[in-house]
Amino acid sequence: MARPIVAIVGRPNVGKSTIFNRIIGDRLAIVEDKPGVTRDRIYGIGEWMGTSFSVIDTGGIEIDGADEMLKSIRMQAELAIEEADAIVFMVDGKAGLTGSDSEVAQMLYRAKKPVILAVNKVDNLKRQDDIYEFYTLGFGDPIGISGSHGIGIGDLLEAVVTNLPEKEEEQYGEDTIRVALIGRPNVGKSSLVNAILGEERVIVSDQAGTTRDAIDTPFERDDQKFVLIDTAGMRKRGKVYETTEKYSVMRAMHAIERADVVLVVINGEEGIIEQDKHIAGYAHEAGKAAIFVVNKWDVVEKDDKTMQQFSQKIRDHFLFMTYAPIAFVSAKTKQRLHKLLPIVVEVSEQHAMRVQTHLLNDVVSDAVAMNPPPTDKGKRLKINYATQVSVKPPTILLFVNDPELMHFSYERYLENRIRAAFRFEGTPIRLFTRKKS
Ligand code: GDP
Ligand code: GDP
Repeated sequence: MARPIVAIVGRPNVGKSTIFNRIIGDRLAIVEDKPGVTRDRIYGIGEWMGTSFSVIDTGGIEIDGADEMLKSIRMQAELAIEEADAIVFMVDGKAGLTGSDSEVAQMLYRAKKPVILAVNKVDNLKRQDDIYEFYTLGFGDPIGISGSHGIGIGDLLEAVVTNLPEKEEEQYGEDTIRVALIGRPNVGKSSLVNAILGEERVIVSDQAGTTRDAIDTPFERDDQKFVLIDTAGMRKRGKVYETTEKYSVMRAMHAIERADVVLVVINGEEGIIEQDKHIAGYAHEAGKAAIFVVNKWDVVEKDDKTMQQFSQKIRDHFLFMTYAPIAFVSAKTKQRLHKLLPIVVEVSEQHAMRVQTHLLNDVVSDAVAMNPPPTDKGKRLKINYATQVSVKPPTILLFVNDPELMHFSYERYLENRIRAAFRFEGTPIRLFTRKKS
């Protein structure tokens, strides 16, 4: 089920990134500890009472050419209006209502999306009165919060979650593999779509008035149903912010959420750049199956080692995604393109694979016997039982004596042993620990 997207907007210094970090919580820390994931992030996954959502700090989206602050905030707000399912509008209770707050409010009136007004820096009860002047913005009851003191975050999240739109009805059956092509502009996504479909076709149509114009392209190959998700999202709409780096991540988020398999398209001619990592990182966190597709392989000067060297570069850059297979293709010459869909089918099966509990427990106890968990302050982790609790991505629950004793490196080790036994190619695996009661 696609996670809804929540965007945080507001002028600089109201505390957007502070709140963003609060919402992401320790999930952020967990991801950042893994090498290969960049630090300057603006998106992540939050959760409140069992509802999971994506959150974006639009303040982190620097917009080329927007030299003035106001222009920049306006574009960030516009982006949020187009891409988000709900908007957290943040203001600063200490500073009071400002002209730029009213400017942003003007834009948000037109959003036709739920807007939750959060007054930050309400650090104590005395400051609670600071919220009243913001009623004039016209977004109902402002929620007083304090990012630095961690006050009111629960109320805010409660308001966000209750205002999220109904989940979209799943349009495709279990027999359809949902594929998203993502990557920065000009890597060849639309060319690949055309090449895969085997005909020149117009994949975009202008639909005035729709904000998120998702257009999917269903097709069938060798009795397998596929759908290419949000092919319209690949269109270049010529807006200033479309060239900006983090924008493409935001644009891709919804498509990734709706997909089973994400094709991370890389320009073989230019190599890997930082931006490729942001997009791939999101697919990883969202728990999607993934394949690296190195496109434009026709123009790469090659000898017998080039492919191996390029693969190594991908592995070095995407340390957190060693599970994803790599395909070298050309949308132009269709070189090796016929190999792509069979890989899509394969990773999609692995993404949905369920392993039997007794086999899983054999693998885990062998792993523990071979390399026992290290002790921590004299205590040793004891794993009593393992079971796969869900698929897409495969999620394994480990019942242990004390979850605090599970360390990242040991979790990595177990994951590697599980992969060695069952493969799970192309898919992330989630390991959770729970105290055995
Ligand atoms: P952004 O530009 O909107 O992302 O704002 P930041 O999150 O970077 O915060 C701007 C400044 O406000 C920083 O110095 C924060 O430490 C401070 N700040 C954030 N939240 C609070 C809060 O709840 N109370 C107070 N007093 N300061 C805060
Ligand atoms: P998108 O922005 O990712 O959708 O990229 P496009 O599909 O619009 O392609 C960007 C440019 O790269 C266009 O000029 C394409 O003709 C070119 N291109 C796409 N795929 C290939 C390829 O496999 N080989 C070569 N040589 N050029 C390609």
